[in-house]
Amino acid sequence: MIFSFAAALNFIAAFFFITGAVSLKEKTQENVEEIADLSKKQFHYVIERTMTEFLSPDGEDLRKEDSTIVAYQNLFDVTYYDLSLSFDMTGKSIDGELTMTAEPLSDTLGLVYLNFYDNMKVNEVKYTRNAVEDKTFETAVDADFKREKDYVIVELKDKPSKGLAFSMKIKYSGTPKTLGFDSFSFKTIYGNPTAYNLSEPNYGPTWWPSKDRPNDKALSTVRLTVPAGFTGVSNGLLSGTTQNTDGTTTFVWMNSYPIATYLVSVVVAKFAHWEDTYTSVDGNKTMPVVYYVYPRDSANARIDWKETPEMIALYAKTFGEYPFINEKYGMAQFGWTSGAMEHQTLTSMGYLLITGDARYEHVVAHELAHHWWGDCVTLENWDNIWLNEGFASYCEALWEEQKRGIQAYFDYMKKQDYGYFSGTVYAPEAFINDYRVYATVYLKGSWVLHMLRGVMGDELFFKTLREYYDRFKYSNANTEQFVTVAEEIYGQPLDWFFDEWVYKGTGRPKYEYSWRFENFQDQPNSGAYTVRLQLKQVQTDYDVYKMPIRVTIITEAGDREFTVFNDTKEQSFLLTVDSKPKEIKLDRDGWILKKVAKGKYEG
Ligand SMILES: [Zn+2]
Repeated sequence: MIFSFAAALNFIAAFFFITGAVSLKEKTQENVEEIADLSKKQFHYVIERTMTEFLSPDGEDLRKEDSTIVAYQNLFDVTYYDLSLSFDMTGKSIDGELTMTAEPLSDTLGLVYLNFYDNMKVNEVKYTRNAVEDKTFETAVDADFKREKDYVIVELKDKPSKGLAFSMKIKYSGTPKTLGFDSFSFKTIYGNPTAYNLSEPNYGPTWWPSKDRPNDKALSTVRLTVPAGFTGVSNGLLSGTTQNTDGTTTFVWMNSYPIATYLVSVVVAKFAHWEDTYTSVDGNKTMPVVYYVYPRDSANARIDWKETPEMIALYAKTFGEYPFINEKYGMAQFGWTSGAMEHQTLTSMGYLLITGDARYEHVVAHELAHHWWGDCVTLENWDNIWLNEGFASYCEALWEEQKRGIQAYFDYMKKQDYGYFSGTVYAPEAFINDYRVYATVYLKGSWVLHMLRGVMGDELFFKTLREYYDRFKYSNANTEQFVTVAEEIYGQPLDWFFDEWVYKGTGRPKYEYSWRFENFQDQPNSGAYTVRLQLKQVQTDYDVYKMPIRVTIITEAGDREFTVFNDTKEQSFLLTVDSKPKEIKLDRDGWILKKVAKGKYEG
């Protein structure tokens, strides 16, 4: 997912212009200075308020996992979700029917806990299990269920046996709740009604029941019945469209790759639709790249999104083939203002991000990259969110590098340094809808990969990404597993690196350096010079940030490059150059998140 601060600021600026202009004008006669101050404060207030409004769940905390319920949910593994939804676009409600098929992981499964908010009414639950003899489903029976908080709890009188599948059908209806980042919304945009979701991290249960845990992926079919003139789009391939006798249309989308519940997507709107093509790296397959856009934005989207096949090619070449090559990659405009969400095979793009000048091309790159990092290799739990967001943010820089060259890559990384990051990258202080940790997870997370590239070198770094992808694709991973792959490829421990940048450190090294030189001692007239570089780390958040540091000595005969490994708080390095040194630069290109100041030479 991405939330574009720039787009939000435009939105806020417009809001401020309307609400702020009147009060400011009245004040103009009084005191010009006071007004400057007032407008500044007011602007900050509006930003803060709007950020909080945009980025925080609406009055409801994120679900806290109850260990008893988690233990119950761990007793079964969902293999298939078949979800049918029909939309009342004027009444803003849905009728739903979910058939969930699962494998019991124990013989003691008597209660099935599914996450489902109580705004939705459960009308009926039917249950069936595989017969022991021939593994066919028995006749479905009504199952007892109760509603408790945000769960539907189904009681299984005939417990399924380990190794034999069971299935339940839940019929429900209601108006979905809009929580978090627009978990589910009915809106009218540019005069057209639309319905869409953004469930991350755990708001899927506001509109459909599931075992809503990112580490239980399943296959899925989504059937959307919508009024005449509307299109319903979702994950995977469109396997059929049916015109119903009541004038509605049913779109059936089948997803044949494992999907996490938070990535299941529905968008209903009146769409313009066109397609592009991607050819696989080995040249053997072509895949549709599909676009669904509000008609008035379609000309702009054709400009903004034209690089998409090229981007797929870049990431496929760099990490391994596009994971959902037998289906599609797509983007659908949706009613969220200024963000986007990497719904599997069908990214949702905020409607303000289509501008016709490719201003938000990095958002296109970001959401696409999530198809490797997040959708295919999915985080094991939300403590590992940087494995989604840090990786996708870093891929923006890789696209920049491909398109505009290596200097543009370094410049992009500099832009991703906000100067200050709050808390640790792993297990951040809050979820990413809290703007305080947005920068830490996304941007410092991106810097972690950039710095790892700096430590390992290009060959081993990209080999690590390819191996990590290959090992965990269509499955789940955690940070430790990524570290293990990196250490295997690097051939040396990297715990020091991940401790300081991901698990424990919350800041960055503050280097103070100084230097002197003298003629090479043994051969005063040899033309060689010895430079003594003194380096100190003066930050307080973390004792020593161990890092290899590139040192450039600018001499009369040109630049001379060195790499020193700094692993103590105060350290001296002796470096020999063949010409008179004039200046020293530490990490000139910007491989390290750092602050640098000149210190006093001691000695
Ligand atoms: Zn993202």
